[in-house]
Amino acid sequence: MEPELEKLKEKLNAVILAHYYELDEIQENADFVGDSLALAQIAAKTEADIIVFCGVKFMAETAKILSPEKKVLLPVEDAGCPMADMATKEAVLKKKKELMNPVVVSYVNTNADVKSVSDICCTSANAINVVQSIKENRVLFVPDRNLGEYVKENVKNKTVYLWDGYCPTHEAFGISELEELKNSYPDAKVAVHPESPKAVRDAADFIGSTSGIIDYVQKSADNEFIIGTEEGVLFDMKRRTKNKRFHIIGNRAICINMKKTHLNDLYDALKYGRYEINLNEDIIKSAYEPIKKMISIKRS
Ligand code: SF4
Repeated sequence: MEPELEKLKEKLNAVILAHYYELDEIQENADFVGDSLALAQIAAKTEADIIVFCGVKFMAETAKILSPEKKVLLPVEDAGCPMADMATKEAVLKKKKELMNPVVVSYVNTNADVKSVSDICCTSANAINVVQSIKENRVLFVPDRNLGEYVKENVKNKTVYLWDGYCPTHEAFGISELEELKNSYPDAKVAVHPESPKAVRDAADFIGSTSGIIDYVQKSADNEFIIGTEEGVLFDMKRRTKNKRFHIIGNRAICINMKKTHLNDLYDALKYGRYEINLNEDIIKSAYEPIKKMISIKRS
């Protein structure tokens, strides 16, 4: 961590979090790097007064929901998630009514108001377990249709209605680009995120969350991998492995919102206390319930 940043951070009793898809300069200067829910959970356990979340808005909101007493800062105000914005609270409630009250399962990649009207949350790592754990037979899965379809393929005894949302970064992975890479690197193992389209998932050796993919390449005896997730993950993968080679599918594996935060934004966030996440108490309380429910299932 840069000494000036460290000083400022200590003076303010802040903790700096960076998602795996952030720029290298941000990941290098964070206290913790990880998936969004894991980071929010880590921050909640710290004694910090301020959480600086280098990521996108829903991630900082989740940190606020888990640590309502702390000040949570998102260094770039308009760093949002297009997929999260594909589901609004009003549209989810309307769909729920139309479908006659299925259980609403929302991916953590949703805005706080959508979580507040959900029955349970899930991550890409536990989505199958979460849906399997539900007693009712009908589920509305929000907002990622690819992750929802993956869940549907793996939970045969439930009706899973899919929301028509997607992550533009993962949706862009094409099977022809993957096949080209497989031809060029025939010994490489393929590890992809479940937000990827079905054809890409079906051609993979491993499907998992971002931290799941990192864990897979780290533990694998293989040395070469084709990766289907946002390219920022390479920073942490390379840091954790020696002499392993990685090839990202296609040339559009960049989430522009995750690349908005630069080192100067991180400094300014601490110096000027910006941009603070403010959620009303009711939203915090009701959005916490589905997260709490998910966490209890994960641990059971
Ligand atoms: S990578 Fe996809 S899901 Fe993640 S923040 Fe970017 S658009 Fe949203």
